[in-house]
Amino acid sequence: MEERKGRKIIMFPLPFPGHFNPMIQLAGIFHHRGFSITILHTSYNFPDPSRYPHFTFRTISHNKEGEGGEDPLSRSETSGMDLVALIRVLKQKYAEPFRESLAAEVGGGEKVCCLVSDAIWGRNTEIAAKEVGVHRLVLRTGGAASFCAFAAFPLLRDKGYFSTLDSRQDDPVIELPPLKVKDLPVVETNDPDELYRIISDMVEGVKSSSGVIWNTFEDLERGQLMDLSSNFNVPFFPLGPFHKHSNHLPPKTKSKEDNEITKWLEKQDPKSVVYASFGSLADIEEKEFLEIAWGLRNSKQSFLWVVRPGLVRGTEWLESLPCGFMDNLGHKGKIVKWTNQLEVLAHPAVGVFWTHCGWNSTVESICEGVPMICTPCFSDQRVNARYIADVWRVGNVLEKSMMDTEEIEKVVRSAIMDNGNEMRDRCLAYKERAEKCLGENGSSSNYLDKLVRDVLSFDSYAFTS
Ligand code: UDP
Repeated sequence: MEERKGRKIIMFPLPFPGHFNPMIQLAGIFHHRGFSITILHTSYNFPDPSRYPHFTFRTISHNKEGEGGEDPLSRSETSGMDLVALIRVLKQKYAEPFRESLAAEVGGGEKVCCLVSDAIWGRNTEIAAKEVGVHRLVLRTGGAASFCAFAAFPLLRDKGYFSTLDSRQDDPVIELPPLKVKDLPVVETNDPDELYRIISDMVEGVKSSSGVIWNTFEDLERGQLMDLSSNFNVPFFPLGPFHKHSNHLPPKTKSKEDNEITKWLEKQDPKSVVYASFGSLADIEEKEFLEIAWGLRNSKQSFLWVVRPGLVRGTEWLESLPCGFMDNLGHKGKIVKWTNQLEVLAHPAVGVFWTHCGWNSTVESICEGVPMICTPCFSDQRVNARYIADVWRVGNVLEKSMMDTEEIEKVVRSAIMDNGNEMRDRCLAYKERAEKCLGENGSSSNYLDKLVRDVLSFDSYAFTS
């Protein structure tokens, strides 16, 4: 391993699992290539640093050290905010503390090679990085296809796509095939103008960066990456799938619940289990929750279902399930609060992943050759679902609006029993391609070599503001 001194990278993740996980995986990749890593993390959702002993963590807090008092972004204060409002608040509250923390790190003596910030932080990080003369790379944790749609927001708005969403749901978006109007990556919010501002800021922040790192691979999104790079005058580094790089970091310690899940999976037949999870942010109505519960049960297939506390609006956890529901299932079904998803998807018992199509879940499923049932909830999930179903053809869409017990029962049963095989073959072919991209002379490996060279040469540039 090369000497890490003078090879420090500062990373600034957005504080949600779907953004933090790929940033940590990227940190592992850089660490393996001889860099030291400092993570600047918001006090909001601050992770347990003992789980990542190779990295230095710094809390950036709205409160100045020594002033004491509650951090203004406690979970209780943000509960009930829609995602757009939450991101607006995070961007506002942490802009100045981030600027100060970055300046302190850069002024700390050891040379800093660059900052890697989540694309959603936008241009605030650009201003802060310029002030201290550090190059800024951006990590885009979503796919390239959905970014094409985000980058087209001004055009889509001019053409009126956003104002007539309801009446034209099934119309094609001619500018972005194969998307339909209902696939556009919008978020339900009281403040659509703010959503538009967040997206524009993200796109502008990407354009002004020293390069964009993607958790995707060329054999999956070559066309979309090419389209984007012809319009963005910055280097692109599609290094994915991140979680499949060898990074030699210590494995995650298993919780008691993880062990119970593995034990349960061990008892199931190969490819027989429906793994259902809607990620870390999406929420559903109680009625939808009950349709899913009965649909899964009536399908008579084995299922492992992640019901995150907070998934079902207005409830704590499972209290809306009818009394005795779980007892009647016996060993057929298991409901948990969280899983080690990478391990679950890699288990031979898992036959299909019923997912909300967050980008990490999409890549993780493809990389284990597990076909999907796609129920997108908001934002890029809709684009990902369309690509999964119509372009890569490794899953079927089950729209939220179509989710009644009978439909779920039908879709789940056929995903396991009838049409899973062809999809699984296609999915396995993508899994192999991902492995090739990561192998010697594969595209992701080559991009990583180039990225490392670029990062090491940053300090020899005369930094222009
Ligand atoms: N995840 C997990 N256990 C779960 C549910 C999700 O480890 O029970 C992880 C999953 O592996 C992925 C992330 O949480 O890395 C979710 O990211 P994604 O982009 O799929 O969705 P989001 O949560 O951002 O909507």
